[in-house]
Amino acid sequence: MRILICEFFQESNSFNPELTTRENFAYTYIYTDGELLEKCRNTQTMLGGILGVLDAAGAEVIPSCAMYSTAGGPVEQAVVDGFVRDTIAVIRANQPFDGACVSLHGATQSTEMEDVCGYILQEFRKELGPDVVISASFDLHANITQRIRDNADFICGFHTYPHVDFYDTGHRTAELCVRRLQSGDNLGLFYAEAPMLVSASTYTTMRGPFGELIQDGKRLVAGGKIADFSVFQAQPWLDVSCCAGAEVIIFADKDGPARSYVEELTSRLWRMRGTFRSNSSSVEEVIQEAERNTSGKPVLLVDSSDSVHAGACGDSAFVLQKLLETGSPIKAALPVVDVPAVEKAFQVGVGWKGKFCLGATKDARLTSPVEAEAQVRSLHDGCFINEGPALAGQSRNLGRTAVLTVGNIDVLVTTTVSQPGDPQFFRHFGIEPLFYQMLVVKACTSFRAAFERIAEKIFYADAPGAASPDLNALPFRHVPAYFYPFSDTAEYRAEAHLRD
Ligand SMILES: [Zn+2]
Repeated sequence: MRILICEFFQESNSFNPELTTRENFAYTYIYTDGELLEKCRNTQTMLGGILGVLDAAGAEVIPSCAMYSTAGGPVEQAVVDGFVRDTIAVIRANQPFDGACVSLHGATQSTEMEDVCGYILQEFRKELGPDVVISASFDLHANITQRIRDNADFICGFHTYPHVDFYDTGHRTAELCVRRLQSGDNLGLFYAEAPMLVSASTYTTMRGPFGELIQDGKRLVAGGKIADFSVFQAQPWLDVSCCAGAEVIIFADKDGPARSYVEELTSRLWRMRGTFRSNSSSVEEVIQEAERNTSGKPVLLVDSSDSVHAGACGDSAFVLQKLLETGSPIKAALPVVDVPAVEKAFQVGVGWKGKFCLGATKDARLTSPVEAEAQVRSLHDGCFINEGPALAGQSRNLGRTAVLTVGNIDVLVTTTVSQPGDPQFFRHFGIEPLFYQMLVVKACTSFRAAFERIAEKIFYADAPGAASPDLNALPFRHVPAYFYPFSDTAEYRAEAHLRD
């Protein structure tokens, strides 16, 4: 059993003007050949899960390339072309294959394509032929298009948000592939879509109606009624005409009742659309909450509009501006992506003071820079290791990084951003969350996996950014106008299809 494995993972935000380059991928990783196997085996990643199954099955694994970038603006087409070209070269040099296990995000846009993941799978299918089993893992925020469904035999999405089941998703992906190759099956792909986009900051699988929906899907699997299921809520800041919105996919016996399960789950998803509401406070209100907080734990101000996991730039100093305007005495910490400020901090040196201009270096349309006198507290190479629970043990790289102190405020100034919801994002740089009255996290929901335990209270703040929860405030041009929340088509009825 000869299986190709590879990965191309990036979530695109159409409203971020900064393109994602090969360098952005290199900040997290680009692995080829043997290095891919060495770095991914026995890790809690999608490829770790895929390899766990393939190794146990005694498969001959042929790696091509694994590329992973944090979310950001659309990817430069040359990066996509390079990945496809390199993988096709590996396919041609190692034919024939029995299967391919591919790790993708599913909401990736390039400078020339709306559906990069569909394109990748289509090119692989052309090269591998119709009989090779292609099985692909996806983020829960994937935009599963017709082209993806047409070119992958199996599609498995995360069951968790905050995402913590990277390994399990890879495991499911490879298991379906291996089972078909070893013993055959009668599984069909059943799916239904609902024309809705909801902000990723408004739900979690940890509780609430969306969490119950996922649990009910798991019960169908545990009860042997279906083989696998995924519920996708497309990345809401992806402005593409091929938007799938919300989608339920089930793999089950072609002759069984899976059609009704798909329709039931999708109808419930549609009916709960109104519950996906952002409940936010003004930054000033959160500062006042932090001033009243004497618990010894921080108040978390969630700046989800500048969430780097949702593809915003992370360059907003909006909260810093409000802290300085109010003159609040609270001890606060916040991150800002700002390359010129990092360079200046390295010139000024540790312990010295300088005049800094912070923020709005990547997207000056949404926020303004803040001028402040700051002391350089520490300088770093930006590398740290996640503490988890998500992707514990994985290394991350923020590029050159400085901690600046502006009065009672510590600003973590980075070259790029990754994993802002992991406590080591702060701790590694000397910012111990428990020593602050207010901490700013630029994420939508991912931070909950670690920070619900650490924070006294959590507030989403009204702030500008490319990942604003108010989708009606953003300049959408391609998502069809009948999608919720741009309109509300009351007569929608979920209709399940069985892929031919
Ligand atoms: Zn996601």
